[in-house]
Amino acid sequence: MSGASTLDGNLAQAEQYLARLRAEGVRNFIDGAPRPASSGQTFETRTPIDDSVLAAVAAGDAADVDAAASAAQRAFPKWRDLPGADRRDLLHAIADAIEARAEEIALLESLDTGQPIRFMSVAAKRGAENFRFFADKAPEADRGLSLPAREHVNYTLRVPVGPVAAITPWNTPFMLATWKIAPALAAGCTVVHKPAEWSPITATLLAQIAAEAGLPAGVLNTVHGLGETAGKAATEHPAIRAVAFVGESATGSAIMAQSAPTLKRLHLELGGKNPVVVFDDADLERALDAVVFMIYSLNGERCTSSSRLLVQKSIEAEFTDQLVARVRKIKVGHPLDPATEVGPLIHPKHVEKVLGYFDVARSERVAIPVGGARAAQRGNYVQPTVFAGAQNRMRVAQEEIFGPVLTVIPFADEQEALALANDVRYGLAAYLWTNDVGRAHRFARSVEAGMVWVNSENNRHLATPFGGMKASGIGRDGGDYSFDFYMETKNIAVALGDHKIQKIGE
Ligand code: NAD
Repeated sequence: MSGASTLDGNLAQAEQYLARLRAEGVRNFIDGAPRPASSGQTFETRTPIDDSVLAAVAAGDAADVDAAASAAQRAFPKWRDLPGADRRDLLHAIADAIEARAEEIALLESLDTGQPIRFMSVAAKRGAENFRFFADKAPEADRGLSLPAREHVNYTLRVPVGPVAAITPWNTPFMLATWKIAPALAAGCTVVHKPAEWSPITATLLAQIAAEAGLPAGVLNTVHGLGETAGKAATEHPAIRAVAFVGESATGSAIMAQSAPTLKRLHLELGGKNPVVVFDDADLERALDAVVFMIYSLNGERCTSSSRLLVQKSIEAEFTDQLVARVRKIKVGHPLDPATEVGPLIHPKHVEKVLGYFDVARSERVAIPVGGARAAQRGNYVQPTVFAGAQNRMRVAQEEIFGPVLTVIPFADEQEALALANDVRYGLAAYLWTNDVGRAHRFARSVEAGMVWVNSENNRHLATPFGGMKASGIGRDGGDYSFDFYMETKNIAVALGDHKIQKIGE
């Protein structure tokens, strides 16, 4: 990130960006223009730093969703028929525009979510990368297969499904919005985006940036509001053909039910309770770095966080001691301070949820060698925490806490490690640390997770499939998998000659 690299400098800079937002409010963006909610209602978005109000946000409802979905429907035929190369150029222009405003996006995102600036400074860059990656794929998105038969030429091609809804959560809102919106636009779909009500600020910015970069009116629309009103309306609207959702598993179930009457295609990226399995033959120094990073970065508010540490009994004591020593040194602080490693959690209600698990741990008689309390009197600061020596059937080992909290569970051997890893309702990601090649492959094949990283932290490669099994979701995105979701595959069969057609009714 360019610009200031001190807390005071970042605060001064952020204040300038906020001044405009405060004056204008965070509006919906429908049919190429910012608009207040049709009801005139607003809600407040507050910063987790001290709970002060950042801006008033349009409280969209079914009427706003209807306006957005209708705009998306009107814009669809022209956007669909635009040559892929033209869509590519436009998406690259959006990526350029995102990069040009990277500092603004990073500072506002940090203020709105509490995510430390050291991580948010790359949020815009990653968002721009998502646009560039799918931009380059746009010209070939409609390509299919040649599947010749003896008497027919068969070939497939892909066409965009139509207007889609993208419903996104609050943990890394800008990056996740682009992860859904960029492939949808590259495929030729138009979009209604419903961002999370706890972190709305950068969503309208994205729609505005895209419009300024030349995206035609109605192609990307943003409607703010509560999940139960604006979100629900998007899943029920007849013009919306598919819903790409990222959020909690319970919300995923609700969305399935809500969208059933209009038979929508669904892609659900849901919660996780991801195991990181450390065998005694692993490179323990690197394993420790990855374990700490994958649960305490992004405030632990990360779907792929390694929230269950399965550690082999032979190294449990030593590894836990080293872990606890590292966790003690994690710098909790103001999210705009470049030194901060863990910032305040998103919302007082979420803090209550996380603190509730400290009570659960105490009632389950789990040791808490570090953390286990608020980290400050004011704001949503929570101490990075370890629950040690837990058992897998305990609630702290089964339920998604979504905070800077790691549950340590010992295992004896590979067989037990696999059984524990799979004994959970979720199946998003798994991390393995071992130097036994055969074991790495065996375990990776059998562990119930959509994504497995061996001797690595979560390291994204945009071409690979991203998604979960079991209660962690349905469907994949990334690379061509995204186009499979946002596009219909058609088969076209053309007779080569005079093959025999059965005659009836002669
Ligand atoms: P959430 O499910 O509460 O909300 C997500 C979005 O859904 C918000 O925009 C919300 O307004 C909307 N929503 C809520 N109820 C709705 C309804 N009935 N109909 C339509 N929309 C509705 O999730 P959250 O608390 O914002 O985010 C945290 C969750 O997201 C965690 O469980 C986390 O694991 C998950 N997540 C998953 C991934 C992944 O890729 N698998 C990535 C990030 C976050």
